[in-house]
Amino acid sequence: MDTRLNRSQEPASPNSDQTRVVTNIIPDSPSAKALKRQVVETNAAKYLNPEADIKIEVKHVNFYYGEKQALYDVTLPVTELQVTALIGPSGCGKTTFLRSLNRMNDLIPGTRTEGEAIMDEQNLYDSAIDVISLRQRVGMVFQRPNPFRKSIFDNVAYGLHIQRKSGQAIQETVEQSLREAALWDEVKDRLKSSALGLSGGQQQRLCIARAIAVRPEVILMDEPCAALDPIATLKIEELITELSKEYTIVIVTHNMQQAARVSHYTGFFLNGRLVEYAPTRELFERPKKKETEDYISGRFG
Ligand code: ADP
Ligand code: MG
Repeated sequence: MDTRLNRSQEPASPNSDQTRVVTNIIPDSPSAKALKRQVVETNAAKYLNPEADIKIEVKHVNFYYGEKQALYDVTLPVTELQVTALIGPSGCGKTTFLRSLNRMNDLIPGTRTEGEAIMDEQNLYDSAIDVISLRQRVGMVFQRPNPFRKSIFDNVAYGLHIQRKSGQAIQETVEQSLREAALWDEVKDRLKSSALGLSGGQQQRLCIARAIAVRPEVILMDEPCAALDPIATLKIEELITELSKEYTIVIVTHNMQQAARVSHYTGFFLNGRLVEYAPTRELFERPKKKETEDYISGRFG
């Protein structure tokens, strides 16, 4: 059955263009209005910089877990100082793709990557790449907040010790990172307390502070709000928007509203393939592929 919408039934008023299209791609959905508002008013979409450079150019990537192929010929630009969201149903390869950008998949035995991811004229998949310094340049925030069993201060200072920073520099950078992660005011009086005593949302902001402390160029976030309540989620989303002024961000989310709210560009994955990639507003309002339209309309996944 062809579930595509009948565009000819739409009114032709150019002024109501966004309202019309977004409402129509989610027929009968009670959240249609909310999604429309988010897509139309989202800060990220408003501040999309069409001139932005490409930070990482991913070209023709195939990825294998042993015999099992998980990514097929993925080509995608990661745009500098913008937020790229990756959406798609569970198991479509979002995490695999994200982890390929800082070679986290190398840690899994029997995996193999083909293709290229070019950052600053270097192929990140080149065997000569120093993966430890790569992971400082391309940091990661995970689905479940994973603070170390250490104090709040020591969590953020962790990577700075590895970078052999001086005590004074560590002090300053810990404070600055906690401020940037919008956590400083909540923890400044208990920096020596265990990070495990923080709420889930605070822990995730702490993990973001830990990631930015080593001054990465790119931050990868794998469903960073999956374990958080709506208020904590909102805080992280605001933080992502703020951080995108200084960091290139790639975020995996199964929450399309979140993608619409925080990202400038969106890639839609299905069965290991990148089906469609476009400015977020365009992808949600005028998807070019039927699979994309079906997915964002809630017909599967
Ligand atoms: P997503 O993040 O979109 O849910 P994943 O990237 O986690 O998808 O998974 C993509 C595919 O790769 C799935 O079929 C999954 O079962 C498989 N996969 C993920 N991790 C492993 C692994 N460590 N070993 C083997 N297969 C894996
Ligand atoms: Mg995943």
